[in-house]
Amino acid sequence: MSEHLLEVRHLKKYFRLGKHKVLKAVDDVSFYLNEGETLGIVGESGCGKTTCGKTCIGMLDKTEGSVCYRGKEIHEMNKKEFFGFTGQVQMIFQDPYSSLDPHMRVYDIIAEGLRIHHLTTTKEQEKEQVYKLLKNVGMNIEYANRYVHEFSGGQRQRIGIARALALNPKVIFCDEPVSALDVSVQAQIINLLEKLKKERNLALLFVAHDLAVVQHISDRIGVMYLGTMVELGTTEQIMEKAVHPYTKALLSAIPIADPKEEKERQQILLKGDIPSSTEEIQGCRFAGRCPNAKECCMKKAPKIQEIEPGHFVACHLYTGGMENE
Ligand code: SF4
Repeated sequence: MSEHLLEVRHLKKYFRLGKHKVLKAVDDVSFYLNEGETLGIVGESGCGKTTCGKTCIGMLDKTEGSVCYRGKEIHEMNKKEFFGFTGQVQMIFQDPYSSLDPHMRVYDIIAEGLRIHHLTTTKEQEKEQVYKLLKNVGMNIEYANRYVHEFSGGQRQRIGIARALALNPKVIFCDEPVSALDVSVQAQIINLLEKLKKERNLALLFVAHDLAVVQHISDRIGVMYLGTMVELGTTEQIMEKAVHPYTKALLSAIPIADPKEEKERQQILLKGDIPSSTEEIQGCRFAGRCPNAKECCMKKAPKIQEIEPGHFVACHLYTGGMENE
């Protein structure tokens, strides 16, 4: 049995668009997630990170590959096993405005999961649990009888987090959980997630387009580009020793707090358009925008390989693909 809590191998998720087009949203992605660990997945909008996360928690069927939770393939679980799995794996949504039902009181939003999974037997127990969850996310218990439109974005996201925690999950898929919030509130939500992660030994699959956000919360970071993982490593390896040209470009876009250093920061501006995920690309998907592209990059797609313990990269520059150039 796998030692990892969640293990994803060669995952593909394609969408058929009409008769002849196929959108390869996730195309051969592999990674694992350990108990109590945060894996950040970063990449531009449309790179497949949300589709990947949704496929990993069983919200979408896979096209190929495997997603194993505690050694069991989730897409082959029977009804009872899958019901148990849905209690262990929860999601926090990007948009706290549309992900909460405006017709429900906060109390019922949080209690719904407890009822479906029969986690409390009396009304008293349920109330105790809902109030505890509200306190856990820094909300006043008096808010329980209000409706979501009465709250700010940050408070709504706290309600979404309380709902996700209600089933006492082991994994939470956080889909851009702060991108719709004001910058001043983002840090509060990140700090809350970190606190809850430590208290509950939670594993977080944290998806975001902003590497600056991801680095604060992640133990390891994966960088996705056009449906594939181009670099994966510990947060230190990605932030200090990134090698993939795309990761380097993302890093160069992070503002520096020190005004003097910020003035000297040289941002790598990528030229060219991102190809469509429906296009058949023979070589490296990043070749059209890569400042280091060589002839072989147009012909052969680089495979992701380990270049030092725990540090993986998909680029011919580092995996021997340019030897004959
Ligand atoms: Fe750039 Fe070639 Fe590496 Fe792709 S394989 S990232 S085109 S150098």
